[in-house]
Amino acid sequence: MTAIAANIAHVREQLVRACDQAGRDPRSVRLIAVSKTHAPDAVSEAIAAGVRDFGENRVEEAASKIPQVALLHPEIPINWHMIGHIQSRKAKSVATLFGTVHSVDSLKLALRLAAARPEGARLRILLECNVSGEPNKDGFPVANWQTDEAALNALIADLQAINLLGLLEVRGLMTMAPIVSDMEQARPVFRSLRRLRDTLQERTGLALPELSMGMTDDYSVAVAEGATIVRVGRAIFGQRQA
Ligand SMILES: *Cc1c(COP(=O)(O)O)cnc(C)c1O
Repeated sequence: MTAIAANIAHVREQLVRACDQAGRDPRSVRLIAVSKTHAPDAVSEAIAAGVRDFGENRVEEAASKIPQVALLHPEIPINWHMIGHIQSRKAKSVATLFGTVHSVDSLKLALRLAAARPEGARLRILLECNVSGEPNKDGFPVANWQTDEAALNALIADLQAINLLGLLEVRGLMTMAPIVSDMEQARPVFRSLRRLRDTLQERTGLALPELSMGMTDDYSVAVAEGATIVRVGRAIFGQRQA
């Protein structure tokens, strides 16, 4: 077994354990292997271990890696997830390269992605939400959404506008917890995202099944708080290259 395969087996065990403790079905959590900075060979090892979902955060890197991986595995359909910040002028490449975009943080970006999506399957998106309130973090600014009615209403309006377009499939919400020494400290952030999702569903009647939250240092807590997608890089591929 390669190191990457062993790492994946370990992460999967931890996910099953976290699901058991939370009384959740392990099949309700999807593992995305975050392959940013890692070569196509590393992706191949993860594919051999059964992973089909990969996350990237830079468009240039993805534009070279995705076709290389496709050449190595022409028979295997891979789901590529964009998880990094997107500049408007890169929207066209993102809409072409990826099947799912987790980092939609404005109506403007959603409109650009919709306009740039080639014919065929609708692009799946998640709305990235800054629920922790960290100033340098991307995402819709909804740190105090429970009391800040204006921030909540602004997000609801954007969600409804995106939905009305009919060109993007809004799957749910994504967040990044602050970097903390103890993963318990991330729990309130994950819980806030789940409650925000519940509130958005109630207020709009739209289904938002996905919660993309949890990384190497905090995915167990994220699962306990309802994550349906975890984005794990270092625990699978080791330290980032370059
Ligand atoms: C890099 C990255 C991850 C994975 O982080 P690890 O700590 O390596 O698991 C997850 N989500 C986003 C948005 C990232 O940029």
